[in-house]
Amino acid sequence: MSVMRAFFSSRGVAVGVAVLVLTACSAGLRPTPAVFRTPAVDQLRTDVTYLASAPLDGRGTGTPGNDSAAVYLARRYNAIRLSSFAQADRPGCAKGGVTGKADCFILPFTASVPVRNGSPRLLKTQNVAAVIPGNGSLAGEYVIVGAHFDHLGRDSANARDPEKGHVMHPGADDNGSGTVTVLELARRFAQRPAQRSVIVVNFTGEELGLLGSEQFANHLPVPKEKVQAMVNLDMVGRLKNDKLIVYGVLTATEMKGIVDSANVAPKLMLSAVGDGEGPSDHAAFYRKDLPVLHLFTDLHDDYHTANDFADRLNFPGLVRVADYTERVVRALADRPTRLTFQRVQTAGANRPSERPGGGAYLGSVPDMGAADVKGMQLAGVRPGSPAEQGGLKAGDIVIRFGGKTITNIYDYTDALGAHKPGDVVEIVVQRAGAEVTLKVTLGKRG
Ligand SMILES: [Zn+2]
Repeated sequence: MSVMRAFFSSRGVAVGVAVLVLTACSAGLRPTPAVFRTPAVDQLRTDVTYLASAPLDGRGTGTPGNDSAAVYLARRYNAIRLSSFAQADRPGCAKGGVTGKADCFILPFTASVPVRNGSPRLLKTQNVAAVIPGNGSLAGEYVIVGAHFDHLGRDSANARDPEKGHVMHPGADDNGSGTVTVLELARRFAQRPAQRSVIVVNFTGEELGLLGSEQFANHLPVPKEKVQAMVNLDMVGRLKNDKLIVYGVLTATEMKGIVDSANVAPKLMLSAVGDGEGPSDHAAFYRKDLPVLHLFTDLHDDYHTANDFADRLNFPGLVRVADYTERVVRALADRPTRLTFQRVQTAGANRPSERPGGGAYLGSVPDMGAADVKGMQLAGVRPGSPAEQGGLKAGDIVIRFGGKTITNIYDYTDALGAHKPGDVVEIVVQRAGAEVTLKVTLGKRG
């Protein structure tokens, strides 16, 4: 398990980058690295294509493909001379800063994967992280920009096409798209740093339950009080009709204003959602009382299937998401004052802390982004939950619950709240265009 306590002093890289650019402009003794010269769209395409390629085998946590992806990301951070965090327990990486060693961007740890009715499975894996020091008096504060780089590998349990067996799931959109956007943002902030320092981080273990982001949030390499906000990119490669979903806009009182002001022409159609919970890595930071955002271009038919291919991504759209995210992150990193964190009070169905103990429990994970869906779409089901045992699956749209019509998450919350643990309810879902009726025995919350 990797614990990082100290971190480097935050001056080095800004100077390093300035020198690099100067030399390249003046004498040409040291050329600008290729990553700075390639147009964004080409670089994003190259990176996603690699991450989703056959040798990486779907980047399942704890597999060689996942490890190779981590090395690829670490090399890219090293190529643009970012700083790594100090890792006291790793000789050669103990100091952090600009070390010239790609390996020091890798943060190894042992992930503990919950197993139903058994002891947890231990997987050696890694996050990848780097920092771009701020260039002003706020350099001792941080904005974290993250995305998970793991995917399902050949695991069919969390796939939406389990009938295909243990096939490779390329995960180009989920979450090659967010991963490469973080790389793109890293090179932009390295070229032009913000006031606050920007931490870029790629999480492992997301598909197995936010393992990498929880590890990172639980062992932050900087004091938590110095973190302004966390911005998560998960599935941002399928921009359609200019629609971008932004979760977490109510996690700080100032966030909605920032998110709206960053939307300059040609404007995206922003769909803002307040909550900071949700089935992705930002939730790990929100649970630490940090303001968060999650950007998302919505679900699609290839989600968690063997067809989430790189060539199905909207690359010009991905550049627009990167442009937008850059403006948001700069606004967060450059504003003179700190954000005011607030906990969001919602009628969400997965907020056990807000529900009286002992209420009925299903274990569904609502897809909060599916705002234009009639019914409640599921992003997933909790392992071992009544929802899973009753046959509910990710992608299902709940349209009736115990005889009540469900048109949105609030209907669903009310319907669930009207039942007690042990009740057997009939749930009707839309799955692949057909209606499926399931019988589920509700569990007890908490
Ligand atoms: Zn996923």
